[in-house]
Amino acid sequence: MNNFFFNTILLKGSNVSNHIRKNLTLQINELKKTYNITPKLSAILVGDNPASQLYIKSKEKAFKKMDCISETHNLPINTTESNLIELIKGLNNDNSVHGILVQLPLPKSLDSKKILHSISPEKDVDGFHPMNIGYLYQGEPKYVPCTPGGIIEILDFYDIPTERCHAVIVGRSNIVGKPMYGLLAQNLRKGNATVTMCHTGTKDLSYFTKQADLLIIAAGIPEFIKGDMISEGTHIIDVGINRVNDASEKKGYKIVGDVDFFDCFDKSASITPVPGGVGPMTITMLLSNTVTSAKNSI
Ligand code: NAD
Repeated sequence: MNNFFFNTILLKGSNVSNHIRKNLTLQINELKKTYNITPKLSAILVGDNPASQLYIKSKEKAFKKMDCISETHNLPINTTESNLIELIKGLNNDNSVHGILVQLPLPKSLDSKKILHSISPEKDVDGFHPMNIGYLYQGEPKYVPCTPGGIIEILDFYDIPTERCHAVIVGRSNIVGKPMYGLLAQNLRKGNATVTMCHTGTKDLSYFTKQADLLIIAAGIPEFIKGDMISEGTHIIDVGINRVNDASEKKGYKIVGDVDFFDCFDKSASITPVPGGVGPMTITMLLSNTVTSAKNSI
């Protein structure tokens, strides 16, 4: 292991999240005091996927803690597409609702694209609507998908350079990789980088990851990136959240990222831990987008 960088910075999402939430509290208080508006999220959960239930619960908790409203519409697994779209249309027209979120994944019987497209772009606090992705790619983002938005905040908070840097993204999902590319490639706050996007069609991934000044991994493969795949001084953002069996843990499993943290730590200039890196940012950015929507409703 190379000890070139003795002072690797640990990029803790909780520090960034606390900072943003302090600022959001001021905005929420102002909305209440001056306009009698309480930011409200309407989440829709179809079926009883335990992981989705857990995500929805943590969103509800976070909104409550910030004195905002989060209501959840729990729908049975056999809900029809037309019933779901009717519910979304009602929420689109409800002035008390500022953000609408459909918890993914949806049951296979439902067309996720059609359903996500039925959310009003003005209330699309997940930032998945094609119109919001279009705004982002035109360099005028309105609602930025929460995970890439949170990563920009981490880069900003810790003053990680992006301008004139080579950013390499591994993963091209609609929720992380693609919007991340759009944000970093343009001349936006914490952008103006030269960006390479790698995916399952990439030949010789290491060739690219070794060139990265900033490496963002969202591949969903436990501890996939090893120390010999990066160069000294790389800034690493690990988006992965993977559950792996571990008999030494009380729960029988542990959560790891897509980066082999201990193998890469000494070589990296900075790195997000998993858990505690990107994860804490996602709900905070959902709050932030909902507050923005509430402000836009004035
Ligand atoms: P995904 O699971 O939809 O797709 C994975 C991507 O990785 C694909 O685009 C694929 O092309 C690429 N990929 C897979 N194997 C590869 C390989 N061998 N070489 C190069 N590229 C490869 O992606 P996702 O939904 O963005 O999720 C990725 C990871 O991020 C998951 O672990 C997920 O749990 C996590 N995640 C975390 C947060 C958070 O809040 N921290 C949010 C979203 C996703």
